[in-house]
Amino acid sequence: PGSPGKAPADAVVLFDGKDLTAWKGAEKWTVQDGYAICGGNLTSKQAFGDCQLHLEFATPEKVEGEGQGRGNSGVYLMGQYEVQILDSFGNTTYFDGQCGSIYKQQPPMVNVCRKPGEWQTYEIAFTAPRFNDDGSVKNPGFITLLHNGVLIHNHFQLQGTTSYTEAPKYHKHADKEPLLIQFHGNPVKFRNIWLRENIHALVGKKP
Ligand code: MG
Repeated sequence: PGSPGKAPADAVVLFDGKDLTAWKGAEKWTVQDGYAICGGNLTSKQAFGDCQLHLEFATPEKVEGEGQGRGNSGVYLMGQYEVQILDSFGNTTYFDGQCGSIYKQQPPMVNVCRKPGEWQTYEIAFTAPRFNDDGSVKNPGFITLLHNGVLIHNHFQLQGTTSYTEAPKYHKHADKEPLLIQFHGNPVKFRNIWLRENIHALVGKKP
Protein backbone atom coordinates (compact mmCIF):
# COMPACT_ATOMS: atom_id res chain seq x y z
CA PRO A 1 0.00 0.00 0.00
CA GLY A 2 1.05 3.60 -0.31
CA SER A 3 1.42 5.83 2.71
CA PRO A 4 -1.81 7.73 3.44
CA GLY A 5 -2.83 9.75 0.39
CA LYS A 6 -0.18 8.16 -1.85
CA ALA A 7 -0.31 5.61 -4.66
CA PRO A 8 0.42 1.93 -3.96
CA ALA A 9 3.76 0.52 -5.15
CA ASP A 10 2.47 -1.12 -8.34
CA ALA A 11 0.48 1.89 -9.56
CA VAL A 12 1.06 3.96 -12.67
CA VAL A 13 1.11 7.48 -11.28
CA LEU A 14 -0.55 9.86 -13.74
CA PHE A 15 -0.49 12.96 -11.53
CA ASP A 16 1.21 13.37 -8.18
CA GLY A 17 0.59 17.09 -7.75
CA LYS A 18 3.80 18.22 -9.45
CA ASP A 19 3.48 17.93 -13.22
CA LEU A 20 1.29 16.62 -16.04
CA THR A 21 4.06 15.05 -18.15
CA ALA A 22 2.04 11.81 -18.39
CA TRP A 23 -0.58 13.66 -20.45
CA LYS A 24 -1.21 15.37 -23.77
CA GLY A 25 -3.09 18.67 -23.64
CA ALA A 26 -1.46 19.82 -20.40
CA GLU A 27 -0.50 23.21 -21.82
CA LYS A 28 -4.06 24.38 -21.22
CA TRP A 29 -4.01 23.30 -17.59
CA THR A 30 -2.58 25.10 -14.56
CA VAL A 31 -0.59 23.19 -11.93
CA GLN A 32 -0.28 24.90 -8.55
CA ASP A 33 -0.16 24.01 -4.85
CA GLY A 34 -0.28 20.25 -5.52
CA TYR A 35 -3.29 20.23 -7.78
CA ALA A 36 -4.15 20.86 -11.44
CA ILE A 37 -6.94 23.03 -12.87
CA CYS A 38 -8.79 21.82 -15.93
CA GLY A 39 -8.47 24.05 -19.00
CA GLY A 40 -8.83 21.63 -21.93
CA ASN A 41 -9.29 17.95 -22.68
CA LEU A 42 -6.43 15.94 -21.21
CA THR A 43 -5.40 12.60 -22.74
CA SER A 44 -2.98 10.13 -21.14
CA LYS A 45 0.12 9.32 -23.22
CA GLN A 46 -0.15 5.69 -22.14
CA ALA A 47 -3.12 3.49 -23.09
CA PHE A 48 -4.98 1.30 -20.61
CA GLY A 49 -7.60 -1.44 -20.55
CA ASP A 50 -8.78 -3.18 -17.36
CA CYS A 51 -7.79 -1.07 -14.38
CA GLN A 52 -8.37 0.22 -10.91
CA LEU A 53 -8.39 4.02 -11.15
CA HIS A 54 -8.12 6.44 -8.26
CA LEU A 55 -8.62 10.14 -8.68
CA GLU A 56 -9.46 13.15 -6.58
CA PHE A 57 -11.35 16.20 -7.77
CA ALA A 58 -12.96 19.37 -6.48
CA THR A 59 -15.66 21.32 -8.29
CA PRO A 60 -15.20 25.13 -8.23
CA GLU A 61 -15.68 26.74 -4.83
CA LYS A 62 -17.19 29.78 -6.52
CA VAL A 63 -20.52 28.41 -7.72
CA GLU A 64 -21.38 29.53 -11.24
CA GLY A 65 -23.90 28.20 -13.73
CA GLU A 66 -26.52 25.54 -13.18
CA GLY A 67 -27.41 22.05 -14.32
CA GLN A 68 -24.74 20.69 -16.66
CA GLY A 69 -23.00 24.08 -16.59
CA ARG A 70 -21.87 23.77 -12.96
CA GLY A 71 -18.58 22.04 -12.19
CA ASN A 72 -18.76 19.76 -15.23
CA SER A 73 -15.85 17.52 -16.23
CA GLY A 74 -15.64 13.76 -16.58
CA VAL A 75 -13.41 10.72 -16.74
CA TYR A 76 -13.55 8.90 -20.07
CA LEU A 77 -12.27 5.35 -19.59
CA MET A 78 -10.57 4.28 -22.82
CA GLY A 79 -11.57 7.72 -24.15
CA GLN A 80 -15.09 6.25 -24.64
CA TYR A 81 -17.00 5.65 -21.45
CA GLU A 82 -17.73 8.71 -19.31
CA VAL A 83 -18.02 8.70 -15.55
CA GLN A 84 -19.55 12.11 -15.03
CA ILE A 85 -18.02 14.76 -12.80
CA LEU A 86 -20.43 17.56 -11.89
CA ASP A 87 -21.26 19.80 -8.96
CA SER A 88 -24.37 17.91 -7.86
CA PHE A 89 -24.53 19.56 -4.44
CA GLY A 90 -27.98 21.12 -4.57
CA ASN A 91 -27.88 21.36 -8.35
CA THR A 92 -30.74 19.92 -10.37
CA THR A 93 -30.09 18.20 -13.68
CA TYR A 94 -31.28 15.11 -15.56
CA PHE A 95 -30.92 11.91 -13.52
CA ASP A 96 -28.32 10.19 -15.70
CA GLY A 97 -26.23 13.33 -16.05
CA GLN A 98 -25.55 14.01 -12.36
CA CYS A 99 -22.20 13.52 -10.62
CA GLY A 100 -21.22 9.86 -10.51
CA SER A 101 -23.53 8.87 -13.34
CA ILE A 102 -22.37 6.67 -16.17
CA TYR A 103 -23.31 9.50 -18.45
CA LYS A 104 -26.66 8.97 -20.21
CA GLN A 105 -26.71 5.31 -19.14
CA GLN A 106 -27.12 4.99 -15.39
CA PRO A 107 -27.51 7.39 -12.45
CA PRO A 108 -25.53 6.75 -9.24
CA MET A 109 -27.43 4.74 -6.60
CA VAL A 110 -27.07 7.70 -4.23
CA ASN A 111 -25.85 11.28 -4.49
CA VAL A 112 -22.81 11.59 -2.22
CA CYS A 113 -21.42 14.86 -3.57
CA ARG A 114 -19.42 17.01 -1.24
CA LYS A 115 -19.78 20.80 -1.24
CA PRO A 116 -18.22 22.89 -4.03
CA GLY A 117 -14.49 23.34 -3.41
CA GLU A 118 -14.15 20.24 -1.20
CA TRP A 119 -11.94 17.33 -2.31
CA GLN A 120 -13.76 14.19 -3.40
CA THR A 121 -12.59 10.74 -4.50
CA TYR A 122 -13.48 8.27 -7.21
CA GLU A 123 -12.32 4.68 -6.93
CA ILE A 124 -13.15 2.92 -10.16
CA ALA A 125 -12.82 -0.78 -10.99
CA PHE A 126 -13.10 -1.08 -14.75
CA THR A 127 -13.37 -4.17 -16.92
CA ALA A 128 -12.73 -3.23 -20.53
CA PRO A 129 -15.04 -4.64 -23.21
CA ARG A 130 -13.67 -7.22 -25.64
CA PHE A 131 -14.59 -7.39 -29.29
CA ASN A 132 -14.68 -10.09 -31.94
CA ASP A 133 -12.87 -9.58 -35.24
CA ASP A 134 -16.14 -8.70 -36.97
CA GLY A 135 -16.66 -5.83 -34.52
CA SER A 136 -19.36 -7.52 -32.44
CA VAL A 137 -19.09 -7.50 -28.64
CA LYS A 138 -17.39 -10.55 -27.14
CA ASN A 139 -17.66 -9.30 -23.54
CA PRO A 140 -19.24 -5.99 -22.50
CA GLY A 141 -17.45 -3.56 -20.20
CA PHE A 142 -18.23 -3.20 -16.49
CA ILE A 143 -17.79 -0.39 -13.99
CA THR A 144 -17.81 -0.50 -10.21
CA LEU A 145 -17.50 2.94 -8.63
CA LEU A 146 -17.06 4.29 -5.13
CA HIS A 147 -17.62 8.02 -4.72
CA ASN A 148 -16.20 9.39 -1.48
CA GLY A 149 -15.96 5.79 -0.25
CA VAL A 150 -19.61 4.98 -0.98
CA LEU A 151 -20.55 2.35 -3.56
CA ILE A 152 -22.62 4.03 -6.29
CA HIS A 153 -22.25 1.49 -9.14
CA ASN A 154 -21.91 -2.23 -8.47
CA HIS A 155 -20.57 -4.03 -11.55
CA PHE A 156 -22.68 -1.94 -13.94
CA GLN A 157 -22.70 -3.36 -17.46
CA LEU A 158 -21.79 -0.63 -19.93
CA GLN A 159 -24.28 -0.25 -22.78
CA GLY A 160 -21.74 1.20 -25.17
CA THR A 161 -19.78 4.32 -25.98
CA THR A 162 -20.98 7.50 -24.25
CA SER A 163 -23.11 9.67 -26.49
CA TYR A 164 -25.05 12.84 -25.74
CA THR A 165 -27.37 12.48 -28.72
CA GLU A 166 -27.86 8.76 -29.38
CA ALA A 167 -28.64 5.57 -27.50
CA PRO A 168 -25.31 4.06 -26.45
CA LYS A 169 -23.83 1.37 -28.63
CA TYR A 170 -20.43 -0.25 -28.85
CA HIS A 171 -17.84 0.63 -31.43
CA LYS A 172 -14.89 -1.76 -31.71
CA HIS A 173 -11.64 -0.34 -30.38
CA ALA A 174 -8.23 -1.54 -29.24
CA ASP A 175 -7.63 -3.54 -26.04
CA LYS A 176 -5.98 -0.49 -24.56
CA GLU A 177 -6.89 3.14 -25.18
CA PRO A 178 -5.84 6.41 -23.50
CA LEU A 179 -7.73 7.82 -20.55
CA LEU A 180 -9.33 11.22 -21.10
CA ILE A 181 -10.33 13.93 -18.67
CA GLN A 182 -13.03 16.17 -20.11
CA PHE A 183 -13.00 19.96 -20.22
CA HIS A 184 -16.56 21.27 -20.20
CA GLY A 185 -15.77 24.93 -19.62
CA ASN A 186 -15.44 24.74 -15.83
CA PRO A 187 -12.18 25.02 -13.81
CA VAL A 188 -12.50 21.70 -11.96
CA LYS A 189 -9.44 20.77 -9.86
CA PHE A 190 -7.70 17.38 -9.80
CA ARG A 191 -5.00 15.74 -7.69
CA ASN A 192 -3.67 12.24 -7.00
CA ILE A 193 -4.49 10.35 -10.18
CA TRP A 194 -3.13 6.81 -10.37
CA LEU A 195 -4.18 3.46 -11.68
CA ARG A 196 -3.32 -0.21 -11.40
CA GLU A 197 -3.37 -2.61 -14.30
CA ASN A 198 -3.27 -6.44 -14.17
CA ILE A 199 -6.44 -6.65 -12.11
CA HIS A 200 -7.36 -9.98 -13.80
CA ALA A 201 -10.87 -8.78 -14.46
CA LEU A 202 -11.90 -11.61 -16.76
CA VAL A 203 -9.80 -14.50 -15.47
CA GLY A 204 -11.89 -17.58 -14.70
CA LYS A 205 -15.07 -15.70 -15.48
CA LYS A 206 -17.36 -15.41 -18.45
CA PRO A 207 -19.52 -12.32 -17.97
MG1 MG B 1 -18.98 15.70 -18.22
